[in-house]
Amino acid sequence: MSIEALADYTTQQWNAVAEKVMANIPPGLFINGKHVDALDGGRIASINPANGQLVAEVAAGSARDVDLAVASALKAFRAGDWSRMAPRDRMAVLYRWCELIDANAAELAMMDTLDMGKPIADMAGVDLPSVVETIQFMAECIDKIEGSVTNTEWDVMHCVLREPLGVVGAISPWNYPLLMATWKVAPALAAGNTVVLKPAEQSPLSVLKLAELFVEAGGPPGVFNVVNGLGEVAGQALALHEDVAKITFTGSTAVGKLMLQYAGQSNMKKVSLECGGKSPQIFMADLEDMDRAVAAAYNGIYANMGEVCNAGSRLLVHESIHDDFVERFVTAGKDAYVPGDPMNPETNMGPLVTREDQQRVLSMIDAGAKEGARLAFGGCVPEGLESGAYVSPTLFTGVNNDMSIARQEIFGPVASVMTFKTVEEAIAIANDTIYGLAAGIWTRDLNLAMRLVRAVQAGTIWINSFDEGDMTQPFGGYKQSGHARDKCMESLLSYTQSKSAWFRLSGQR
Ligand code: NAD
Repeated sequence: MSIEALADYTTQQWNAVAEKVMANIPPGLFINGKHVDALDGGRIASINPANGQLVAEVAAGSARDVDLAVASALKAFRAGDWSRMAPRDRMAVLYRWCELIDANAAELAMMDTLDMGKPIADMAGVDLPSVVETIQFMAECIDKIEGSVTNTEWDVMHCVLREPLGVVGAISPWNYPLLMATWKVAPALAAGNTVVLKPAEQSPLSVLKLAELFVEAGGPPGVFNVVNGLGEVAGQALALHEDVAKITFTGSTAVGKLMLQYAGQSNMKKVSLECGGKSPQIFMADLEDMDRAVAAAYNGIYANMGEVCNAGSRLLVHESIHDDFVERFVTAGKDAYVPGDPMNPETNMGPLVTREDQQRVLSMIDAGAKEGARLAFGGCVPEGLESGAYVSPTLFTGVNNDMSIARQEIFGPVASVMTFKTVEEAIAIANDTIYGLAAGIWTRDLNLAMRLVRAVQAGTIWINSFDEGDMTQPFGGYKQSGHARDKCMESLLSYTQSKSAWFRLSGQR
């Protein structure tokens, strides 16, 4: 089996995979190379949001489990089997890990789909290939990490070494359960650290398998540990832990701010944050291809049910093209994403992650209408799908940037169209947000595009495209979208620290 082969799976085959997965749920924690239960017997339930049925109950770790996992990671780090392993050997383990992920692709894909409702086609076509690409990229970089020799006086040799940090605590979200965890775990491991991962409570399954496969690939036990559990229990214990050298967090801005507090209350550990977004796309009157721009607009907000940190939720359209833009958006975008059974390979939109999230998104839609925005389509639970946490693709027009739907991260399939008259106004609206994760710019005029690139405060800006990239592209935020950079060599280096070694020599002259 391989990731590529998944493209030919039928719903029936996927149902068989689901049965197999549900019959073999591990206890819920992976510590020191073994699947184990929580010491205090805590439990969290994973509910399939497509039908409300129980997928599994897994262990919910407490501070005691976190202590055990961190102790195991610290012991493994100090033992040096991983942290001092020759770069080529560490690379070989990561490449073997990729092969095993490929061989177990169906099971891994199914776990995320069952946990959080992502269409299985997305798991096969987007998430899993990206997981493998991330690990491969980080493996390729291992022996490219360099220190330096600086220019000193004659009797001195000074060099800068790059060393791993120690135990890295990773806290990840549920919207791309495997991929967001991998964006943290792969560079942390590649740099020689050991890891304790606390996944989101909504998606506990797939990372357990990921950790198991790491050990099968030759990763020493204790190097990659997983503690499932509640954020305010296991997550907090990890972020407050005195033996954790760095917390790498992806999630909401509110919880990201807590991470900074936890670091200050404990050992001043390094903190890297990937948080929320409210990304603008700016459509200038001279854009080259309206249909392509409109497609990028609806794909940018409806893909992954809008549960995307950089989702293009604010569509800033020049007033002279507004009517044409909206008309084409309604014609092409209304039915581009059809909510349905995520196990059907034809489905491109699943449910939201939980019933509570569905209710939260519906109430934000309600608020948008009450505040005066015009509902062009959607805004409801799709007919026939009432037993799942579904929300129809939704478009609001007549939005202004003070409305709650323009200010708050909705994290659902809700687009808001606003108009502007001048470039200055577009820049002001684009930047009038606490977030700064990403932005899109659509214009034929590359001088204007460059002016906007300079003026818009966002970590990633796409010009005449949206949501593209590869592993060389740093991904991360400005402002309250956080300050980390994932993917890229910069990410790998952020899991290292420099050490200066000053050699006073004699007999050199
Ligand atoms: P969340 O902040 O609720 O949870 C994220 C993680 O933090 C989970 O593992 C959770 O258990 C843990 N957590 C919650 N409270 C905690 C606490 N008090 N102490 C320690 N840990 C705690 O976010 P979510 O709902 O899982 O994910 C959605 C959010 O993630 C959105 O805001 C989205 O924009 C953001 N996100 C950002 C990026 C990015 O790269 N910038 C990528 C994906 C998601």
